[in-house]
Amino acid sequence: MSTAYDVVVIGGGPGGYIAAIRAAQLGFNTACIDEWKNDKGGPALGGTCTNIGCIPSKALLQSSEHYEHAGKHFADHGIGVGALTLDLAKMLARKSAVVKQNNDGIQFLFKKNKVAFFHGRGSFVKAGEGGYEIAVAGDKPDTIVAKHVIVATGSNPRALPGAPFDEKLILSNDGALSIDAVPKKLGVIGAGVIGLEMGSVWRRLGADVTMLEALPAFLGAVDEQIAKEANKALTKQGLKVQLGVKIAKVETGKAGVKVSYADAAGKDQTLECDKLIVSIGRVPNTIGLNPEAVGLKLDERGFIVVDGDCKTSLPNVWAIGDVVRGPMLAHKAEEEGVAVAERIAGQHPHVDFNTVPWVIYTSPEIAWVGQTEQQLKASGRAYKAGTFPFLANGRARALGDTTGMVKFIADAKTDEILGVHMVGPMVSELISEAVVAMEFKASSEDIARICHAHPSLSEATKEAALAVDKRTLNF
Ligand SMILES: Cc1cc2nc3c(=O)[nH]c(=O)nc-3n(C[C@H](O)[C@H](O)[C@H](O)COP(=O)(O)OP(=O)(O)OC[C@H]3O[C@@H](n4cnc5c(N)ncnc54)[C@H](O)[C@@H]3O)c2cc1C
Repeated sequence: MSTAYDVVVIGGGPGGYIAAIRAAQLGFNTACIDEWKNDKGGPALGGTCTNIGCIPSKALLQSSEHYEHAGKHFADHGIGVGALTLDLAKMLARKSAVVKQNNDGIQFLFKKNKVAFFHGRGSFVKAGEGGYEIAVAGDKPDTIVAKHVIVATGSNPRALPGAPFDEKLILSNDGALSIDAVPKKLGVIGAGVIGLEMGSVWRRLGADVTMLEALPAFLGAVDEQIAKEANKALTKQGLKVQLGVKIAKVETGKAGVKVSYADAAGKDQTLECDKLIVSIGRVPNTIGLNPEAVGLKLDERGFIVVDGDCKTSLPNVWAIGDVVRGPMLAHKAEEEGVAVAERIAGQHPHVDFNTVPWVIYTSPEIAWVGQTEQQLKASGRAYKAGTFPFLANGRARALGDTTGMVKFIADAKTDEILGVHMVGPMVSELISEAVVAMEFKASSEDIARICHAHPSLSEATKEAALAVDKRTLNF
């Protein structure tokens, strides 16, 4: 007889594993099915985020930043390092070790919370009286029954038409995180979050990086003033970004990759490179899930259709994370996972997309929450804005990293914070203060009146809040 569970989560990425833990905490008999395999064929919980996304990219960003600092910036501090060497194999091995620590950590958390784990692919079989029957295909095939199902099957990289990923010459995020020798010339198609982070890693390690972006504006979703500042800083570092291009053809050969494209002026151009990273977005993943067996509705782009509460077209079937609408971010997936488990328990949680923070881990880092100036202009809402440059921040000067600024945007009348935008050192950490403030519907005056430690980068946040009322103290 099949084992019955109150909640079965399909997918053990940040959305799925967090949903499973929260469901177990709430007293549900919970199972999670995940098919990801490590290089030995064993389980590797954590999904894209842990295995080929957030975690390994940040490990390599950190290593490559150390390398760049040692080579270019330590001397400013009076530190000499002799001849700089790069042991790329060791750097990649460290990245893999960081990934494994995270994989193992999730297995431990499942044990601690008594979440049953099935390693293999989960597919809907049918809906019956006792719940949904789900087949697990893997080393130990099984069939389990679920009263509630949470689908968290994530996403896959989108390939360029006519240029499938081979992970040798044409790389997705997977191959981009494992290049075994620094390419002389690296092409990147798509200058979004993933493209910029991967391009930065390999540029710091010595590659000549050219990025081709279809959109006419650099980081079009980011506040224009912040995007302009980031573009200036990244270009100065040597990242070459061409905007408004139209890719015509990608050819591979012995010499590498040749990309034919039209530039922003419509002129035909070619880019020859040793390897090409394609980072043009991600597509929802329902491969093998067999949604047809139970009539689970997908939209025309392949996303599972859900309402604001992550309810699908079927009773007691929920879907979260990258496989549904909304930003493709690990923390968004996690918040949805917690919220769904709590809804199953009869609670009434809420996930507000307007306070989901975004971060790009380049150097300088870029982070924001809420609305941009261009969005507010388009909506006609009256606002006031204030900025404060890191150049005028004592801690940033001591760090030797004064690029960028913090920008506050507040309602013109009520002073409620509508958006906070940052480019500069460690702004991935600073943005949390803005998220908390916005969740509590704070005004810029609230932040301006809060005591911030000195000297700290967070003083730039306070000063930017003061700038909304044109009363900065240090600039
Ligand atoms: C290079 C890169 C860097 C990124 N950096 C960041 C970052 O810094 N911050 C951030 O917030 N986001 C980042 N992201 C995005 C983030 O990784 C995703 O938003 C997040 O992983 C989505 O979580 P998820 O749980 O929805 O899906 P996933 O993490 O994709 O997990 C889905 C899991 O389900 C499994 N699965 C799928 N189908 C089945 C099935 N039928 N049966 C069993 N198992 C199945 C998959 O094997 C996988 O383990 C990055 C992404 C990439 C590619």
